[in-house]
Amino acid sequence: MSDVNIFLKGFRRFQHHYFDRNPELFDRLFTEGQRPRALMVACCDSRCDPGVLTDSEPGDLFVVRNVANLVPPYIQATDYAGTTSAIAFAICNLGVEHVIVMGHSRCGGIRALLENRQPECDEERLIAKWLGIAEDARQRVLKELPGKPHATQARACEQASILESLENLMSYPWISRRVNEGALALHGWYFDMENGALMQYDSDAGEFRVTDLHLEGCEKHSEEPLRPQRLFKNWESNTPL
Ligand SMILES: [Zn+2]
Repeated sequence: MSDVNIFLKGFRRFQHHYFDRNPELFDRLFTEGQRPRALMVACCDSRCDPGVLTDSEPGDLFVVRNVANLVPPYIQATDYAGTTSAIAFAICNLGVEHVIVMGHSRCGGIRALLENRQPECDEERLIAKWLGIAEDARQRVLKELPGKPHATQARACEQASILESLENLMSYPWISRRVNEGALALHGWYFDMENGALMQYDSDAGEFRVTDLHLEGCEKHSEEPLRPQRLFKNWESNTPL
């Protein structure tokens, strides 16, 4: 069994090197509460920690993580809605102005979705049912990219499922109303692990593009309208430089 003490030692380092050196930040967070800048829906994958990847400070980012960073559509958000209740809390109670759905390369959840194996036990059924949220993305990839290498299809499905989650977000009346009023912006991000690059969905181009980090302050406030049908155009060039 691996040693969990590594995390306790890590917390000690956090106390010494971070908490003790930022008394104003933690005092403010404690007395005034949290006012995060954005909500991020990210994958559970241990290689894709939103706080690490965005170099955020405590209080900056409200995060909900699940297998394959999926958002269920409105009609499925009923019992035990862990993901959607967190989204509702961030938007309606905390008033975040940005929702980022961040997918990533080599996503085990999306690969399992593509494999489409029949579940054989309860735990596999749990995962398969959850991944079924992105079934439309899988179908589109098989239709648009038939016969392509598995890695190409997986990357396409990882990105298509991000767009599906963004569309699902818009199916919630309390989200679409805020987006249409300009009070909330939706963003699709893709962490390209192999290249250490971040790609953003460009709704005008209809594809994910490497983020130009020189364009500070030039973010578009709305991802609306989403045009996922254009995602597969020029697919062969969909790799960062
Ligand atoms: Zn993943």
